Amino acid sequence: MTLNSSGRKRPNILITGTPGTGKTTTAAALAEVTELRHINVGDFANEENLTNGWDDTFDCYYINEDLVCDALENLMEEGGNIVDHHACDFFPECCFDCVVVLQTNSSVLHERFTKRGYSDHKLATNSECQIFQVLLDKVKENYPDDILVILRSDFLEDITKNVETLTSWISNLSPAV
Ligand code: ADP
Ligand code: MN
Repeated sequence: MTLNSSGRKRPNILITGTPGTGKTTTAAALAEVTELRHINVGDFANEENLTNGWDDTFDCYYINEDLVCDALENLMEEGGNIVDHHACDFFPECCFDCVVVLQTNSSVLHERFTKRGYSDHKLATNSECQIFQVLLDKVKENYPDDILVILRSDFLEDITKNVETLTSWISNLSPAV
């Protein structure tokens, strides 16, 4: 069996991007095809009570990032994870073999937020986040360019295409035993 450069038998992939860009949909579809483990960080933090109270501004729990990192340490060392989260800066750089940033056209995103029933404030903040490419800048600060993959996620066909792209990347990185 070939190990990748990190020593993990299977890669760890971070799928990040502004809320609504399709992280969870893409990660779930990719997990189904590749049999990698989908970790939705927000859900995990809620299930394991690794939260720090309620954020009134965004109507969600604050995640205790240190506790989440500790709780996921063994799984991350083992490899084979698709980590689905909108923040990218609390996992150490060495955790990931590939960091995927999903990007969606602002008007498409606006529509998705409205469908989700976001408050005006949440809608405005998240829209700005995409417009100003906040996430992409953070990813570039935290991870080397050569593991960064930027993918469009405007239409349903993009999900299929992105899953195919990532699946072939994964199979090149960790050939079958
Ligand atoms: P995130 O996890 O990034 O917040 P989700 O995967 O929950 O985003 O997707 C938000 C909504 O947008 C869902 O209703 C999903 O079906 C839809 N969606 C996601 N990606 C796409 C896409 N590429 N094309 C069309 N609809 C999408
Ligand atoms: Mn999600």
